[in-house]
Amino acid sequence: MSDVIEMHLKLLFDLDTLLADLEEPVYKKIGFKIGDTERMALLGRRSDLLKKLPREIAEVYEMLKKRYQQAIAPVENGFCFGCFQQLPTQLLTRSKEVTTCPNCGRILYWREK
Ligand SMILES: [Zn+2]
Repeated sequence: MSDVIEMHLKLLFDLDTLLADLEEPVYKKIGFKIGDTERMALLGRRSDLLKKLPREIAEVYEMLKKRYQQAIAPVENGFCFGCFQQLPTQLLTRSKEVTTCPNCGRILYWREK
């Protein structure tokens, strides 16, 4: 996929991870609190990011997030690190198209070397 899309997807993923962490009982227990203003700011940032993505990718992302929490997965050594299945060779060439794992459906990205 294009670098810009990949960057936005990763930012979105980081933001969703942060938002999910804030809901964790362990965070609340140690007194880590986030105010409504901060939360609204984060959610605002989130919808901005979604708007920057092509619509169909934003939709796939949201659908995957409902299913798995983690909607994107890195590719390493030919494996999808979402479901740990080996990927078909033809998927291992990095392309401009958005690639999804044929097994779990997560959006695949390549880690920088
Ligand atoms: Zn997978």
